[in-house]
Amino acid sequence: KNDHYLNIQEKRESNARSYPRRIPIAIREANGIYVKDVEGKEYIDCLAGAGTLALGHNHPVVTDAMRKVLDDKLPLHTLDLTTPVKEEFVEELFGILPKDFAKKAKIQFCGPSGSDAVEASLKLVKTATGKRSILAFQGGYHGMTHGSLSLMGNIGPKKSITGLMPDVHFLPFPFDYRCPFGVGGKAGYEIGNKYIEQLLNDPESGIVPPAGMIMEIVQGEGGAIPAPDRWVQEIRRMTKEKEIPLIIDEIQTGLGRTGKLFAFEHSGITPDVIVLSKAIGGSLPLAVIVYHEDLDIWNPGAHAGTFRGNQMAFAAGTATIKFIQESGLVAKVEEMGERLMSNLYKIQTQTNCIGEVRGRGLMIGVEIVHPQSSIDKVRDELAHPELASQIQKECFKRGLIIELGGRHSSVVRFLPPLIIQAKEIDTISEIFLEAVK
Ligand code: PMP
Repeated sequence: KNDHYLNIQEKRESNARSYPRRIPIAIREANGIYVKDVEGKEYIDCLAGAGTLALGHNHPVVTDAMRKVLDDKLPLHTLDLTTPVKEEFVEELFGILPKDFAKKAKIQFCGPSGSDAVEASLKLVKTATGKRSILAFQGGYHGMTHGSLSLMGNIGPKKSITGLMPDVHFLPFPFDYRCPFGVGGKAGYEIGNKYIEQLLNDPESGIVPPAGMIMEIVQGEGGAIPAPDRWVQEIRRMTKEKEIPLIIDEIQTGLGRTGKLFAFEHSGITPDVIVLSKAIGGSLPLAVIVYHEDLDIWNPGAHAGTFRGNQMAFAAGTATIKFIQESGLVAKVEEMGERLMSNLYKIQTQTNCIGEVRGRGLMIGVEIVHPQSSIDKVRDELAHPELASQIQKECFKRGLIIELGGRHSSVVRFLPPLIIQAKEIDTISEIFLEAVK
C-alpha cells in the first residue's frame, strides 16, 4: 500500500520536502510517460523528473546503454580520469552545439546536479574576470546550493537563510502577463531593455561591473515564462558591448525541451557559458558547463569533485543525444507543444480561472487566477495558488501528475517527456479540463 511507504517517508524524511506531499504515492514501476504506484494505479507523468526524462522512463536506448556498461564490465566510477565512454559523450555533446561555439569551447564536468554546474559557472566567470558581482533575473531559478540559491529570483526559498552570496543584482525579466513596468508586449520589453541598459551604464545604479550575467531563456520553476527572442538579442548585445560573460542556464530547457536543441537557438544568440544537466544524463545525474575557451584560465586544481565521472550517466546521455538526433524528436516537440497549447487555449475559453496559457515547446504553464471577479484586469492580477493546488489534486485523482510553479505557486506546469504522442497530449488535456471544471 502507498500509505506504508508514505508513513516511513513522513517519519524519516526531512520536513524540507515540498512537492512530494502533493503527489502522495510510492512509485513501483515506470515506462515511457507512465508511472505506476505500489497499488497498481497508473499515472501520466507530466513532471518527468522536473524535465529530466526527455525520453520518458526507461527508454530502451537508455536502458540498453546502461546495461552495456555493466555487461562489458566497464568501470562505473573513474573520478576525472578519462574513458572511451566519457569521450564518446563529449564528442556527441560537442556535435550538437552550435558549430562556431563548439570550435572554441571547453567542457568542464561539474558533478551530479544542476546546482553543481551553476556553482562552477559562477567560479569560472569570477576567475576569468576578477570581478565579484553577478547579474541575475527576477523569477529565475538556478538551484538550491548556497551560491545558486543566491541567484534565486523568488524570495520564498531563500528568505530564512541569512548571509547568502552578496553582490547579486536582480534585473526585471520580460513577463508579459505581470509586466514589472505595467505594460506588456513589445512596449514592456523595450522599457525593460532600456532600464537594464541604463542600470549598467549608470555608475550610481549600485551595479558594479559584474563578473557575469546568468539567465534562463524560458524560466522554468519561475512559471514557464519564455523571454521574447528580440529581448534576448538585446541582452546579448548589451553584455557583449560591456564584456559581461553571459551564462545561459539550459538545465531545464536544454536538449530539445523548448522545440530547439538549446533554447538560446530561438533567438540566434551564442552564450559565453552554457550550463547543462537534467536531460543530458539520460535520466542519471550529470552536469556540465561548456564555455568559450577564453574563459578557461583557471589553474589546475581550481575546480574538482568526486562524482564527476559517472560512466553510466555518460552512456545514458550519449544514447539520449543520439536518439534525439536520429529520431527528429526536436521537431516533434514543437508540434506536440503546439497541440497542447492549442488544447489549453480552448480550455481557457471553456473555464473561468485561466489567466494565461504560455510556454515554448513542451515547457508549458497555465496561470490560475481568481474566477470571481468580472473585471478582467483585476482578475488577471489575482493569482490563485489554492485553486491551482486544488486543480493539481483533481488531476492527480484522475491519473495525471503535474507540478505547480511561479512566484505564487499558481502556475500549473506541463513538462511531459518529449516522446509524448498526440493522443496522449489530448488525454492529458481532457483530464485537465475535467479537473478545472
Ligand atoms: N537551473 C534550472 C533552470 C533548473 O530548472 C534547476 C532544477 N529545477 C536547477 C538549475 C538546479 O538543478 P538541481 O536541482 O539538479 O540542482
